[in-house]
Amino acid sequence: MIKRLLLVLLVSSALASAQSTAIGKKATANATKPTEVAANAPAAKSAVKATEEEVDNSVVITPFRSLTPPEAKTSRTFQLSKVNKLGFTETSKELQRLYSAFATQRIIDGSPTGSSKATGYLATVNYSLVQDLGDNRFLAKAAWPATGPNEVLAAGTDTMAVLLLNKPATVGETGKITGMHVGTVALLFTASYAPLTGKRFTLRREAFVECATLEDSPSGLQKFIEAVNTGAEMSATTNEQIPCKKCGGVGFTREAQKGQLLDKRVPCADCVSSGKIMISVETKFVP
Ligand SMILES: [Zn+2]
Repeated sequence: MIKRLLLVLLVSSALASAQSTAIGKKATANATKPTEVAANAPAAKSAVKATEEEVDNSVVITPFRSLTPPEAKTSRTFQLSKVNKLGFTETSKELQRLYSAFATQRIIDGSPTGSSKATGYLATVNYSLVQDLGDNRFLAKAAWPATGPNEVLAAGTDTMAVLLLNKPATVGETGKITGMHVGTVALLFTASYAPLTGKRFTLRREAFVECATLEDSPSGLQKFIEAVNTGAEMSATTNEQIPCKKCGGVGFTREAQKGQLLDKRVPCADCVSSGKIMISVETKFVP
């Protein structure tokens, strides 16, 4: 499903260009603009332009930099049959916390389990549509928070991004989506917004695909438990605080001093003296 979405985002550009040249007001509307530019150019140049007047308004989107997939530093298992049993660390509260994380890392699709693991970071993206690129793809002014371990995907504020929405929309519209970051794409297009109207160029921008995540509800949790119990492979990645290994969780290391009874305490750089470090942990669920 995800692959299909990506294909739609990347490959359908060819289709869109075919459509926009064959039909559609858009192609004609856009086609007048480069002519205006040409009119301002010296006569000789515009003559050349006139012969090349087959104005290319196609939209080409190609992957530029692939996304950095979420990667866990360590993994552990969570055994459902041990929940709330004496002597085990598995609790229903912990299960709920992990399920909430799980729910936000899955995207709903047509797969047998009803959802698949998101292949990119999911972020709430606020947008204002700047240009329609065809096939529900848009160039947008967008904002999203930094996401992923160590903020792998930097936050966007008033940043141009490429969005693939679920439904058609109109330029100027604002909204909010759950977007899955699918990496950086190179967008070759003819701008239709000021001050670049009519200019054909390539932009490299972060791309997001609109998606829906699992519902974090008791019934969702119940379905999840049933799926794990019938053998589905499920895991959630969370940031967890663990005691710092270097200093043993005390925030400093000791250094023996010649002729002195007391050791020198050296602040631990690994954990900035806090005694704790954050790492991303993949929890695999087992029956
Ligand atoms: Zn430390």
